[in-house]
Amino acid sequence: MVKVDYHTHNSRCGHASGGIEDYILSAIKQGFTEIGISDHSPFFHLEQDFGLPGMVMAKSEFPSYIEECIKLKDKYKSQIKVRVGIEADFFEGQSHHYTDTLNDQPLDYIIGSIHYVNGVHIFDKSRWRDPDTDPVTAFNSYYDQMISLVKSDFCDIIAHPDAFLAFAPPIYDQCIEDKKEQLLSLIGEKNLTVEINTSGIRKYGEPFPKKETIKKLHQYGAVFTFGSDSHSPDEVGYEYDLVVNMIREIGVYEWAVFNGRKRSFLEIL
Ligand SMILES: [Zn+2]
Ligand SMILES: [Zn+2]
Repeated sequence: MVKVDYHTHNSRCGHASGGIEDYILSAIKQGFTEIGISDHSPFFHLEQDFGLPGMVMAKSEFPSYIEECIKLKDKYKSQIKVRVGIEADFFEGQSHHYTDTLNDQPLDYIIGSIHYVNGVHIFDKSRWRDPDTDPVTAFNSYYDQMISLVKSDFCDIIAHPDAFLAFAPPIYDQCIEDKKEQLLSLIGEKNLTVEINTSGIRKYGEPFPKKETIKKLHQYGAVFTFGSDSHSPDEVGYEYDLVVNMIREIGVYEWAVFNGRKRSFLEIL
């Protein structure tokens, strides 16, 4: 059997509960064969140690994070494959601050995310109530950043490429549709790995990306892995079976998995 979850957080970032070991134990209990640890990377591009308290771990915490992951990987190796990862924000022009540090680490994978548009978090609903927010401009900026991330070779897994939709008002704009299409086709052209992130189901009833987007990405040539984006141990594997059924309907039968930043594929059984 193959059952993987590549996206979990823990108390180090300041807004998730439980230690790394609690997430591993939850995965073992549910019969997962691989569990990826991927807490929010420190903000390496900022001067201060604790770039964004409550959102990402401090730079000084990072060595002990890696150390703990490696120790637990070994401790549980007979029960589950623990993969050591990190979820890193992509800031245009700043990515060298990340790759300089992360490329030297014993990481299995890096998830690359866009969480901020014009300095405001993508899930901050107050953006859409602000009369100064022009939704078309905001979406353009989001997709521009996603396109830069995809072009950058910054990461192994692209996180939630349509997450900005979660709390946005319904808008239709041809330029935005075109830009989204450009993003999806570029991901496919580069044969990149996109995670199917079930925090979208918790937030607005659809995974990130949603089914029609997964279908397009698959047609364009993208591949997929699963991520619950757990922020508490009981969220590990959230709606895994639902996602497996959904992607089978689309014609996806393999998960991309990572070992030492190298990708391989496992048939979903
Ligand atoms: Zn988080
Ligand atoms: Zn996450």
